[in-house]
Amino acid sequence: MRYVSTRGEAPAVDFRAALLAALAPDGGLYLPEAWPRHGGDFIDRLKGASFAEAASLTLSPFVAPWLSGEETRAMAAKAYGGFADPAVAPLRRIGEEDWLLELFHGPTLAFKDVAMQLLGLLFERALRDAGGRATIIGATSGDTGGAAVEAFRGRAGVEVFILHPEGRISEVQRRFMTTADDPNICNIAVDGTFDDCQRVVKEIFADCDFCARHSVSGVNSINWARLAIQTVYYFTAIAMLRAEGVEAAPSFVVPTGNFGDVFAGYAAKRMGAPVGRLCVAVNENDIMHRALSRGRYAPRAVTPTISPSMDIQIASNFERLLFEASGRDAAAIRDFMQAFAKKRAGDIPAAWLDEIRADFISERASEAETCEEIARLHKASGVLVDPHTAVGLAAMRKARADGRLSGPVVTLATAHPAKFPDAVESAAGARPPLPAHVGDLFAKPERCERAPASADAVKAMIEQAGGGR
Ligand SMILES: *Cc1c(COP(=O)(O)O)cnc(C)c1O
Repeated sequence: MRYVSTRGEAPAVDFRAALLAALAPDGGLYLPEAWPRHGGDFIDRLKGASFAEAASLTLSPFVAPWLSGEETRAMAAKAYGGFADPAVAPLRRIGEEDWLLELFHGPTLAFKDVAMQLLGLLFERALRDAGGRATIIGATSGDTGGAAVEAFRGRAGVEVFILHPEGRISEVQRRFMTTADDPNICNIAVDGTFDDCQRVVKEIFADCDFCARHSVSGVNSINWARLAIQTVYYFTAIAMLRAEGVEAAPSFVVPTGNFGDVFAGYAAKRMGAPVGRLCVAVNENDIMHRALSRGRYAPRAVTPTISPSMDIQIASNFERLLFEASGRDAAAIRDFMQAFAKKRAGDIPAAWLDEIRADFISERASEAETCEEIARLHKASGVLVDPHTAVGLAAMRKARADGRLSGPVVTLATAHPAKFPDAVESAAGARPPLPAHVGDLFAKPERCERAPASADAVKAMIEQAGGGR
């Protein structure tokens, strides 16, 4: 399989090149040249298969001819061997026709582990095959950083620099990053906000000389490999429902920030997964809800919420959906993104919006609704959910109430409640304990550099560490 850029001015590349480059050289995002189809009895073949086996079957058209099915399965078995639940992504029934898909059983208690654990192994293998090194630079508002550190610590050929806003992430989130003592991991606490961190990373990525010298790469959800891996749990969720006798195509509710996870659901549908509707669930940072309901894509200032991993105004992966909705009109996407960069807003053409609305609905949850949802589920069934998952459940309830959702519905549980213990305790009156598998997180010493919110300062730190050389 080869991969093309949404902006149409970069050559098509293979999986390994798309993985290592992350962003296409024309500024676009990679997508498969054509959607592979898993038709016929594919879902039935997943019934009873391990998650690693399902990953290998689902991903094989994406990684071929680079990796064989057997190699992919072995890597996936290694990636998912450390998950606390042997099912990796188990379903939990919470209502007559409602399920939670628990994606938080990995080492850092958020769904990002599912893709990142395998991504770390794929990177290591790609660098070994290509005979190179890489410097991964990323900004995190909390969960991506920890997942990346856990996935890349000790991996050969990769140096990792993760920027987080000093004092603005939870202690659990920080400790998942700063307690890694491997020499290839460098955490940088930036004197500023998450937006400052992201600006610094973007400025570094724009310095082509520097990037070439250090083989700079990225592992946020603009990296196609992450989304490809995330398609797997949409397929396995449907297979598990089938095994329970649920034959109707389920809808999925996806707590959304950068539009990566929900796009993976769309990709699974294009690949033949019987998916009903995809519900984009957002917190008070509701750009995606406004864009899908009114057709105007216009960011506002970021409002901090109790679901911080969704406190995002510009949803990078939306570009991928626009590309599909436009009938893969790369010139139109270039125009749209250029105009958006200039005016900080864009009107989605009516024809694209119709395409999008055939698959997607959207809903928003306020802070109060999110807290109510945490309390309601705990009272009704004793289950604690984290605030991101609660945004999804609140959206599900609203969309069921007015008939936009019906039949079986799977809401993605994107983080473990213990990752956000204060918010959960204040909403439900019960404090979720840290699961045993995260170990002595609070006893280990922390290691962290500090930097001002300046690209030059961070580049100097990377130079000094000799990243990528
Ligand atoms: C990253 C994250 C999200 C949002 O996922 P996107 O792919 O950015 O839409 C939701 N919940 C949690 C817990 C996250 O860490």
